[in-house]
Amino acid sequence: MTTTSSGVQAYIGIGANLGDPEAQVRESFVRLARDLPQTRLTGRSRLFRNPPMGPQDQPDYVNAVARLQTRLAPLELLEGLQAIECACGRERDGTRWGPRLLDLDLLLFGDRQLELPGLQVPHTGIAERDFVVLPLLELAPGLRIPGLGALEPLAQRFDGAGLIPIKEPGEDKAIAEGRG
Ligand code: ATP
Ligand code: CA
Ligand code: CA
Repeated sequence: MTTTSSGVQAYIGIGANLGDPEAQVRESFVRLARDLPQTRLTGRSRLFRNPPMGPQDQPDYVNAVARLQTRLAPLELLEGLQAIECACGRERDGTRWGPRLLDLDLLLFGDRQLELPGLQVPHTGIAERDFVVLPLLELAPGLRIPGLGALEPLAQRFDGAGLIPIKEPGEDKAIAEGRG
């Protein structure tokens, strides 16, 4: 059961491929922790570099997922995510899967299944996207996706070859000093 008096566990899919994508994804962690009311950032995956989905004439993506504990309603959370996209300079030109400074998708909202105008949860396409499933598995290995079941067998269909983990700042130094 994911609903508690402290709220619901929600998972966010993060992507960027314009500007300095790695910096924007890192900034989105800061904003998810700071800018959403009644919400805490409780975890995140590593960052991964990843070829674009859809139109190929655009730069590679940097992707990650984050976990929130929130007392917001689903549509309030989506609104908050869109406000962060805008604050990071996202402009919507209507191109599906086109290049963007920051994309924040609401992947999961507790064990809820929602079909609202403008909000489907779980996010459609989770199961087909290695850049969502593999970082989710890293963050929450025992996760179940409402309507789809356990995450782990979904992840086994991907070899992860297209996803290149990005080093965390200071990681080289930590390895050199034997702390890696
Ligand atoms: P995709 O959703 O396939 O990853 P996209 O992220 O490029 O594509 P956007 O242009 O960012 O799509 O969003 C299009 C619309 O999707 C948004 O206006 C939003 O209302 C709607 N939407 C529906 N369900 C969700 C969800 N779970 N998370 C985020 N947006 C959603
Ligand atoms: Ca998306
Ligand atoms: Ca989106």
